[in-house]
Amino acid sequence: MLLKETQEKLLPVLKKYFGYDSFRDQQQKIVESVLSKNDNLVIMPTGGGKSICFQLPALLFEGLTLVISPLIALMKDQVDGLNANGISADFFNSSQESHEQNAIFDKVINKEIKLLYVAPESLSLLGNILTEQYISCIAIDEAHCISSWGHDFRPSYQQLGFLKQSLPNTPIIALTATADKATRQDIIQQLNIVNATQFLSSFDRKNIELEVRPANDRVSQIIKFINKKPDEAGIIYCLSRKSTEQLALKLKQNGISAAAYHAGLNFVERTKTQEDFIYDKTQVVCATIAFGMGIDKSNVRWVIHYNMPKNIEGYYQEIGRCGRDGLKANALLFHSYSDVIQLRKFISGVSNEDVQVAKLERMKQFSEATTCRRKILLSYFGELLYENCGNCDVCINPPQFFNGTIIAQKALSVITRLKENEATGIVIDVLRGAHNATVLDKKYDKLKSHGIGKDISWRDWQQYIIQLINQGYCEVAFHKNNALQLTGFSKKVLFENEVVNLTRPVEIQEQIINKKEPKTTKAKKDTLFERLRKLRQKIALDENIPAYLVFSDATLKEMERARPMSEADLLEINGVGQRKLEVYGDEFIAEITSFMNEKVEKRKKNDTHKVTYELYKEGLSIDEIAEKRNLKTTTIFSHLAKLYTDGKDIDIYNFVTKDEVEQVSKAKDELESPQALKPYFEYFNAEIEYFKIRLALTIIDKEG
Ligand code: ADP
Ligand code: ZN
Repeated sequence: MLLKETQEKLLPVLKKYFGYDSFRDQQQKIVESVLSKNDNLVIMPTGGGKSICFQLPALLFEGLTLVISPLIALMKDQVDGLNANGISADFFNSSQESHEQNAIFDKVINKEIKLLYVAPESLSLLGNILTEQYISCIAIDEAHCISSWGHDFRPSYQQLGFLKQSLPNTPIIALTATADKATRQDIIQQLNIVNATQFLSSFDRKNIELEVRPANDRVSQIIKFINKKPDEAGIIYCLSRKSTEQLALKLKQNGISAAAYHAGLNFVERTKTQEDFIYDKTQVVCATIAFGMGIDKSNVRWVIHYNMPKNIEGYYQEIGRCGRDGLKANALLFHSYSDVIQLRKFISGVSNEDVQVAKLERMKQFSEATTCRRKILLSYFGELLYENCGNCDVCINPPQFFNGTIIAQKALSVITRLKENEATGIVIDVLRGAHNATVLDKKYDKLKSHGIGKDISWRDWQQYIIQLINQGYCEVAFHKNNALQLTGFSKKVLFENEVVNLTRPVEIQEQIINKKEPKTTKAKKDTLFERLRKLRQKIALDENIPAYLVFSDATLKEMERARPMSEADLLEINGVGQRKLEVYGDEFIAEITSFMNEKVEKRKKNDTHKVTYELYKEGLSIDEIAEKRNLKTTTIFSHLAKLYTDGKDIDIYNFVTKDEVEQVSKAKDELESPQALKPYFEYFNAEIEYFKIRLALTIIDKEG
């Protein structure tokens, strides 16, 4: 398609129905390819904007676009989202009653709907509808589910190959966020779309800040983290069902709105947790990896990994669930050695153990990186980043290396004295000269090296030992109760004085990071964004749809910046399309207008003494000013007092005599500087008027 033609045809549709002014990255090319009836495979990270790629063509095709999606539970939200944009869409599944299903068939036959969401299991129920007479395009979402190579394999996806055979002229667009080559090949083969055009988008999600911290005291770190982000929705991924529940409980005990989610809960519980999260009723979900696929909630602001994920694919997919609206988001991973040990145990003995171990190793390298983390992440997906990202903890606080040879020697000599039999905890206890039961039982307190590392805190030792392990100076014997053991490199440090470089433990860095973020208290500020958020929440509750479907955070932010107060201006905002303008426009314009008016009023109030000053300079008397401004004379005097304090040129002694000022000064001493004016008034038996007392005090304050 020619550029001009595209601009004339596609952009107005994009704006009208989705409210966007331009396409992102590859969206336009993909849309054009679909409209040209090619088959397509689209690989885009979560939040990259896959939906537009089939939803926009759907509006331009004559017939129906069938959307195959794995999760029935989430179809409703997708359809709600489309309806909110003024697009007629519906979903079809086996739990609907036959009259509901028939109604949908009618709508399809009468060409009343543009998109129909259906789970692969229900395709066979579509009967006559499933022909080229009615269907113009087929979109297959989460297409990696078709591949047993992928991590979300669904057997029902495997039968989808018949679609190309029965509807050979209908373009298929398969979409997924899973990038690896084997899966891609598999999708193409199984769907019989061997001539599909492949679109691979960058996996970089620049708006997500990456951070890794040591796992000490995770829970209180998490509570602090969340308290700094009141109202911001987030997901915490845990390794076990039990820890999701325990963590959710602890958060709740600390006044945070949290819930647990895992595959052990029944369907009703899971659905409720998910919905409460989507509808902004629960702020935080503590979940196993069972949670998240297909959740389109665009305003998830952060993802925490309470435990280390078992590979980078999983990690990346999970963090991809925050910041889908493109606004700043945070991904925080807690790194602990015991997690690595645990994960290592999980995969020991599985059929493809080698692959899994290698994947875990890459994950570990990422967690321990001392160079830009995003570079490491993207290189895993075959993408090269030429410059450091500037949005990961390593870029923000580059590690400071120092000569840690003596520290290393101390640790390695304790490991030697302990005959390579003890795990990290005991090694640190001995280094720090602890006298606990194990140390005493085993007579470790008698060792020469007991206490040689007293000067370093427990936490820091833990960090240093992790660094020594990473650099290969010692290792963990997983099969011997995780005992720390020496390696070939240890000797070089102990006997040949090899220099060991270590980095300062992370806590120092943490403080630097904390300093940068201003502390926000739990009390919410009265910003326009907050006001618009509240309005959005109210509308969402009334309409029973998730708040982000009304407008995304990004759209509200833009409104806050641009303050549109007319329909034309509102329509300029990214995310405001025709239907939303019609349905929500008035309310949002009213809110913005009243916010702005209040601001003007406030400013007027703050500036009121300036108006008095103008009139005073014109030579009006106090009574005249009061009359003109319709204010009391005492108010005008209080303005004069303020103006005088501010150093404005006011002949204050025209209103109060030096003698009166002296009397007030004396009274002030005797009364011990009361706050109120009344004690003075009474002291003078009402012989000096209030306004004079006030002016006198102003002079005394200013001139000391
Ligand atoms: P994906 O399915 O790839 O995870 P979505 O299609 O849900 O991503 O889109 C993610 C977010 O990006 C949504 O909030 C969507 O509204 C927004 N978005 C998509 N395309 C654009 C665009 N061209 N301009 C602005 N925002 C967009
Ligand atoms: Zn970086």
